[in-house]
Amino acid sequence: MRIEVVTLFPEFITEAVRVGVLGRAIERGRVSVAASTPRAFAEDAHKTVDDRPYGGGPGMVLKVEPTRTALRAARARLPEGSRRIYLAADGETLTQARARELSQLPGLLLLAGRYEGVDERLLATEIDECVSIGDYVVSGGELPALVLIDAIVRLLPGVLGDEESAQQDSYVAGMLDWPHYTRPEVFEGRAVPQVLLSGNHAAIQRWRTKQALGRTWQRRPDLLAKLQMTKEQRKLLDEFVAEVEAERAGREP
Ligand code: SAM
Repeated sequence: MRIEVVTLFPEFITEAVRVGVLGRAIERGRVSVAASTPRAFAEDAHKTVDDRPYGGGPGMVLKVEPTRTALRAARARLPEGSRRIYLAADGETLTQARARELSQLPGLLLLAGRYEGVDERLLATEIDECVSIGDYVVSGGELPALVLIDAIVRLLPGVLGDEESAQQDSYVAGMLDWPHYTRPEVFEGRAVPQVLLSGNHAAIQRWRTKQALGRTWQRRPDLLAKLQMTKEQRKLLDEFVAEVEAERAGREP
């Protein structure tokens, strides 16, 4: 996969993608990430890339011409079938399912906004879709672009090793992940659940599924409502709920 980011701060992107899973994916040639700036295409002596909003009010807006030229130059470096995305607080919220769909594409062109955002006409002519990373506002599209890149790249074949497999991650199967533990066996008086030390793989898997369902019930009932549970999963969740309620009753005076 090839990714091009158009941003006023290219080094924000190119530095961040050098570490961890992303850095390794780039080294192994699974993905390439490049960044370019509209400033390089600004035609005046001051290299102006922003302007005041029509209608007045606070803030500035990314200028159409240099941004469009930068987008088109970046697009020309991408393979056919690439998607053009503007990172926007008012875009469609990113989900694991959308990240998976986007990971099937040969390339992505990402536009990171700054100030109040970009001129609306640029979105109409140069962008296929707007993606938000959540219902809050950050100062620029660079962090959202990096979030999107990371969520996608870790799904590309051969990027994660077995040890880091994304199969059991939260949201992959419509529920949250189960709790994880490592050594020591007892930490500040809290012991690792006994079943995890048993070596009984079936019992461990049963416990993990129960915890994943229970956590989803406790923290994300909206996800649970959409989950088509098997009979076994329903039974595990009922057990979890009964245990929580028994514990609660035991604590009450
Ligand atoms: N005026 C915009 C609004 O209220 O929707 C916010 C502009 S924000 C300060 C500057 C840039 O950060 C945006 O153009 C967008 O690229 C990016 N941005 C901010 N929050 C975002 C979010 N939740 N998801 C994706 N991009 C975001």
